[in-house]
Formats: sequence, C-alpha cells, structure tokens
Amino acid sequence: MSRAVFLDRDGVINEPVPDARSGRPESPYRPEDVRLAEGAVDALRMLHEGGFVLIVVSNQPAAAKGTVSMDQLRAVHGRVVELLAAHGVELDDWRYCFHHPEGVVPQLTGACECRKPAPGMLLDAAREHDLDLAASWIVGDSDVDIQAGETAGVKTVLVQNPLTEHRRKGAAAQEIVRNLSEAVGIILDSRDR
Ligand SMILES: [Mg+2]
Ligand SMILES: [Zn+2]
Repeated sequence: MSRAVFLDRDGVINEPVPDARSGRPESPYRPEDVRLAEGAVDALRMLHEGGFVLIVVSNQPAAAKGTVSMDQLRAVHGRVVELLAAHGVELDDWRYCFHHPEGVVPQLTGACECRKPAPGMLLDAAREHDLDLAASWIVGDSDVDIQAGETAGVKTVLVQNPLTEHRRKGAAAQEIVRNLSEAVGIILDSRDR
C-alpha cells in the first residue's frame, strides 16, 4: 500500500483570486488568473520524493451554479497542470467534484458523495491507488477539507491562508500551518512514526 497526500487545490497549490461578484478571494475561473502559491512547487516535489502519492481533491461548484462553464473549469485545471509541469512537477491524480446541492444546471445539481466534506473523492482514490489511509494526509485551507479527511481516516493539516479565512470556522485539524511548504516537514516526519 502507498501513502498519499490529498491536496485541496485553491488556496493551497494556487492562490485564490478576487471574485468579480463578491470581491472575496475565490477559485480562479480564467486560466490567465492562475498563480501558483509561493513555495508550492518545491513542497510538492519534496513530498513526491518522500514517497507520497499526490492527489488533488477539489470542489468546483461554479459550473453547477451557472456562473462559469465546464470549459472554463477545464481550462483552469489545464493551466494549473501546465504551470506545475513547467517546474517539472506532475501530480498522480486530480479529483474534482463539479456538483452543487442547489445548482441551476440539472446534470450537476443534487446530493453527491464526492463534494467535501463528504469523503468520496478520497475513498475512491484510495481504492484505485491502493492507499493506506491511516498513513496518509490531507492538506486544505477550508473546514470542509479537514472534515473530509477526518471522515476518510487520514491525518489533517489546515493551511491558514489569510485570503481564505471565510472558509474556516474552527474545524479542528491535527496540524495548523501557514502554507503548503510548512506542511512538508510535518508530513515527511510522520513516515518514521
Ligand atoms: Mg481551498
Ligand atoms: Zn460531487
């Protein structure tokens, strides 16, 4: 069995950008808005070299809500992959939930088992990649990331990205850091325990 680090995308790997409507920092919806978080490339490389399978698990409900198209979400995904590849980093898997319980696009609307805080994306990936969940981690900047991780039985790191404070209301993570780079030492040390 392998160990994994499940990674939330927005606010962890790439920076949120101000939403045109709310002004709040949210997911980028145009490829040209994608900026990798400082230190993220090196952090991902070290985790990979440390023997962890790296799997993104990201809620992307904007198409379900009708505010952007699936093509835009795919383009943003492609840009994140491209920017990482430009630095020689390739992740093992990318899992997205495109659903929303109260969307307006029928085929993307309704309850699902993948939208965090549900653990579906982690559990599916664990089956596919033969993962040891108890030896795996999730790193995310929202309460729902921590809750999904707890339910799946992985260890949890909360990234307190100052831009996404509105996504945290006190979920109790095992570790709290300021960015992905700070999580690397904690996660790599856990291999010896
Ligand atoms: Mg996030
Ligand atoms: Zn879903």
